[in-house]
Amino acid sequence: AAACRRYPGQIIVDLAALRDNMRRLVELTGGPDSGTAVMGVIKADAYGHGLIPTALAALAGGATWLGSAQTREALALRRAGIGPDRCRILVWMFNGGTAPLDELIEQDIDISAGSMAALEDIGRAAQACGRPARVHVEVDSGFGRNGFTEEGFGGLLARLSQLRDQGLVEPIGLWSHLAVADSPDTPAFVAATDQQIAAFARFSARMDSAGLHPQIRHLANTAATLTRPEIHFDLTRPGIGLYGYEADPAMGQPADYGLKPAMTLQAQLSMVKDIEEGHGISYGRTYLTPQATSTAIVPLGYADGIHRSASGFDRAGARHVDKPGGPVRVMTNAGPRICRVAGRVCMDQFVLDLQGKARDLGVAEGDTVVLFGPGRGAYQGEPTADDWARSADTISYEIFTCLRNRIPRLYL
Ligand code: PLP
Repeated sequence: AAACRRYPGQIIVDLAALRDNMRRLVELTGGPDSGTAVMGVIKADAYGHGLIPTALAALAGGATWLGSAQTREALALRRAGIGPDRCRILVWMFNGGTAPLDELIEQDIDISAGSMAALEDIGRAAQACGRPARVHVEVDSGFGRNGFTEEGFGGLLARLSQLRDQGLVEPIGLWSHLAVADSPDTPAFVAATDQQIAAFARFSARMDSAGLHPQIRHLANTAATLTRPEIHFDLTRPGIGLYGYEADPAMGQPADYGLKPAMTLQAQLSMVKDIEEGHGISYGRTYLTPQATSTAIVPLGYADGIHRSASGFDRAGARHVDKPGGPVRVMTNAGPRICRVAGRVCMDQFVLDLQGKARDLGVAEGDTVVLFGPGRGAYQGEPTADDWARSADTISYEIFTCLRNRIPRLYL
């Protein structure tokens, strides 16, 4: 930890929280003997938490599958020694033709096919490898992104049967992705999810009628894993839940579901100074100090992945409406204090208005500040990634995945 202090900020990842979150997700799907397996979704460097440590923590928590969008990450898992005896791996997006499909097949990685072109590529790679590819057919049940539509499904079934009969493809899975399962309180969205479920059932029945009988049917992301047990089927695919968050904060607090945010982002104040009332802060003078105060500099900026849209505007005249900046928990001698980003987030740093004199508050250079951590949301404890998402008008997923590698990660 001390060595890490040489860096302006640190990402601390609580591996026990990741493991326990996975345990909880396994429990919510009925436990290890329920017949429903759980996949840890570890795409995008495990939502910024670090691919391999997160994968190992998810496996320790009872995941028997890992899943990523990218082939590169799926192969990295196998290269790190996470073999087929430890878990199955599914990869669901490859860049048309350029993917090392032969390597995926050789490494025993399941591959998604969401278009005829993808299926043909997989068939050719299987032929070259001399062994069948395990394929999960992706269907568009209403998400409107990848996947076969109901119209095109007949052609797929015919071709899939041929490739199976030629020993090139094992049609092992059928899956789809949900668009609005994270809004269980919005009737129109509940109806839309119901329609997706009905469409998925139709695809499923057509595969059965064609004699293809996929063994692994999967549809549930975190939101559906938490709220829709009837669609857990053979496998669920939680991502954000593994990291200790809900897909949408409107679903409640992580603790309501027995989950704990695993990531803490902290930094040490690089400068503290007194400043008079009405002083402009940062580019564009979007923040004028409302009173005489002290400011403090946090040495993290948008080049580290701190969203510029989490800038704070105050008393800046007609150009901007007032807008609170991202929250930071400053540990003062008088106890923790929530301060906010004052003015524009810069490339390498941002400014906090301490709303008081540093001397009186007991704040000094080198003090640790927490941007977000396990918290308890709404600033009762430290802020959470959801609080930053609110400030930056985005979602926690983007807060995590924007963090750059120039911030070192520390695993506890
Ligand atoms: N399955 C697929 C195909 C995904 O792309 C994702 C992430 O977006 C997930 C599951 C996990 O979703 P969530 O993080 O909302 O649980």
